[in-house]
Amino acid sequence: MPENLPDLRRADGVLFDLDGVLTPTAEVHMRAWKAVFDGVFAQWGITPEYTDADYYAYVDGKKRYDGVASLLRSRNIEIPWGEVTDEPEVDSICGIGNRKNAAFASALRREGIAPYPGSLALIQQLRDEGIPQGVVSSSKNAEEVLESAGIRDFFTVVVDGRVAERDALASKPAPDMFRAGAVALGVNPADSVAVEDALSGVASAVAAGFSTVVGVDRGAGAQALRAAGATSVIDDLDRLLIPSTDDASSLDDASSLDNDSSTDNQENA
Ligand SMILES: [Mg+2]
Repeated sequence: MPENLPDLRRADGVLFDLDGVLTPTAEVHMRAWKAVFDGVFAQWGITPEYTDADYYAYVDGKKRYDGVASLLRSRNIEIPWGEVTDEPEVDSICGIGNRKNAAFASALRREGIAPYPGSLALIQQLRDEGIPQGVVSSSKNAEEVLESAGIRDFFTVVVDGRVAERDALASKPAPDMFRAGAVALGVNPADSVAVEDALSGVASAVAAGFSTVVGVDRGAGAQALRAAGATSVIDDLDRLLIPSTDDASSLDDASSLDNDSSTDNQENA
């Protein structure tokens, strides 16, 4: 039986995470890390070679510099931390982190990135419906990713890593970022929807007062997303598409964003 999903036409607004929700950015990040660490390992004769398993074990989810330090520590390498202003050529933790960021930015320019087709279909539909949409992302590359994916114009608000730094917003899972997104979009979280693929992001949206938090399972696991507070879990944003007109009339008396509605007619779809 299909899960009882929110009818997004009833939402005041919808706030999306970016990486893993709108764009498959993780792959670009992983390739950029591999290019950088392959170079460093070859230059310094470090073994064993860098693999994707290292990415998940030491880099994924961490702040950029912490990831570099953690990975090098796994190979018993200690180098100076350096300064955040270190050029990418500098062999410091910060320099290597900045090298990765440069590799990511150039891969984005060179290869571009396409949004998930289901995500693109949904944001197009929501725009047609006049639902305000925003992006809440920890990434400092969010604007570049949105531009590269050709979807920047769908969003009136982007609360990203640069905004967070400027306004001293605490990282997810603290409520700050989603709360700031709702304020900027001018919507009430209790009547709005957050869409997230990370456990910390789901927790952030719940803490910010979103009554409807859709978890997107790109690997975190449905059970873990629910445990973090997701009110429903999907595997692709096309699941949130509004049914065609034939089905839509049967949804008219579905009760808004209430996931527990027993009168929901989606079972007829
Ligand atoms: Mg994400």
